[in-house]
Amino acid sequence: MQPRVAVLGGGVSGLAACYYLARSTLASKVILLEGSPRLGGWIHSTQTEDGAVFEHGPRGIRPAGAVGKNTLLMVSELGLEADVLPVPGDHPASKNRYLYVGGTLHKLPSGISGVFRTIAPFSRPLIWSGLKDLVAPRGPAPDETVPAFVARRCGQEVADVAIDSLCRGVFAGDCRALSVRSCFPALFLAEQKCRSVILGMALAKSKKSPVDCRLIRQAQEGRWSQWSLRGGLQTLPEALAAFSRQRGVEIHCNALVKRLERTASGSWQIALQDGTVEADHVISALPAKALAALLPAGSEPLIRDLSGVQAVSVAVVNLQYENAQLPVTGFGHLVPSFEDRPLLGIVYDSVAFPEQDGRQGCATRLTVMMGGAWFTSNLGDPDTVPHTELLSRAQEAVRQHLGIATEPARSIVKVHKACIPQYTLGHWKHIESAASYLKQQNLPLSLVGASYAGVSVSECIFSAQMAVARLAGSVS
Ligand code: FAD
Repeated sequence: MQPRVAVLGGGVSGLAACYYLARSTLASKVILLEGSPRLGGWIHSTQTEDGAVFEHGPRGIRPAGAVGKNTLLMVSELGLEADVLPVPGDHPASKNRYLYVGGTLHKLPSGISGVFRTIAPFSRPLIWSGLKDLVAPRGPAPDETVPAFVARRCGQEVADVAIDSLCRGVFAGDCRALSVRSCFPALFLAEQKCRSVILGMALAKSKKSPVDCRLIRQAQEGRWSQWSLRGGLQTLPEALAAFSRQRGVEIHCNALVKRLERTASGSWQIALQDGTVEADHVISALPAKALAALLPAGSEPLIRDLSGVQAVSVAVVNLQYENAQLPVTGFGHLVPSFEDRPLLGIVYDSVAFPEQDGRQGCATRLTVMMGGAWFTSNLGDPDTVPHTELLSRAQEAVRQHLGIATEPARSIVKVHKACIPQYTLGHWKHIESAASYLKQQNLPLSLVGASYAGVSVSECIFSAQMAVARLAGSVS
């Protein structure tokens, strides 16, 4: 019998699960329950009356790898090809990435010649780090913090400066707490398989992905580093919702799930504020901690594993300046924690996506990211920190780092509470233990989304696709 499937959470993971379910004949009924009034979760774009786009969450999607290709295929199937804004490999936003160290912007080496020279803020050519990786032995531990792994393989300076900044840029996190196995599985596996990260990555790259379409080929030929959508990335969850609705998926906003209980027949009873929904299978696309709070008594081992996945808060300040000149051109810059703890980095949105500047051609859009693992200790309580304070900190950073001292023509401040999960040391054990609990108990529950195996938009989409494929396997 075809199951009735309830998808919890209308972020990109939940919507992707609906999309894949809607494309199959797997379920007799699909219902999506989203607690807030809007769909998209952290994907949230504002388009102003003059056409400028401000991203409050993700702003660029990487096309690389199997998961990146998978998202491009989905975009193509949704008919969004004409809206794609690519950033080709030879574009300044692909080639130029900066670190702000010692009060100065430093361009990271982008070509092979750059690794043979000493380039500040590093004290020696990066080729030495590469050579160290080629000869360093394989680590014995089943997991390691990101800086311990990188220091062992490439030297302490790369760990302290580049990796510290990278973890702040991707996870808004403190690398000293993050797991290399879970945050950067490709690096971990490369060492496990080939002893050297460089060798392992080079061999993995040559594998051909079975997924193919015109958009994927365009991305490969143009060596895109990332892409967005003309009206903002929110176009993607909107298109997923429209596609799913057309195929009969019931989508409910303002449907906060309060409790999950098992019925005597083994199905789920999902309690909402004003009623209940019954389903044979639940796909949870909620943050792990939110799901843990809903599970029935008796599932304590699972609750313990899910509750352990903490998340950090980020303040996102969008700024638009008129007639401002950036001192450099590139994707943006990251700030290592020793330079300024709460200031994570600044993205130069106008450089990567000038099409989103709107009709005011002379406007420069920037996004300042603050907080992360340092939010409470440096900025205060995310619930009460005044937005005016965050705005003035952001403006001060733009003045200091980029020399833009004028008042912004437009600004939007958002505080995203617990928005980026932190895969801390040993995260993999909790994920494996949760998966084996589901299997042992034969629980009709799938876990998808950013809490488990990758926080990027593409990884979230891929997790939803895999969950639907596994469900198809168990039903047929
Ligand atoms: P969410 O977006 O968190 O969705 C979960 C949904 O569940 C929410 O809509 C929530 O309202 C709902 N919910 C919660 N509790 C309940 C309940 N009890 N009942 C019903 N519904 C409930 N990724 C990239 O690839 N590129 C980037 O440039 C990038 N930048 C980012 C910048 C920021 C500031 C942030 C926060 C993230 C960024 N990411 C980026 C990561 C990526 O955007 C997220 O990991 C991804 O969008 C998470 O999607 P999700 O559906 O798993 O979770």
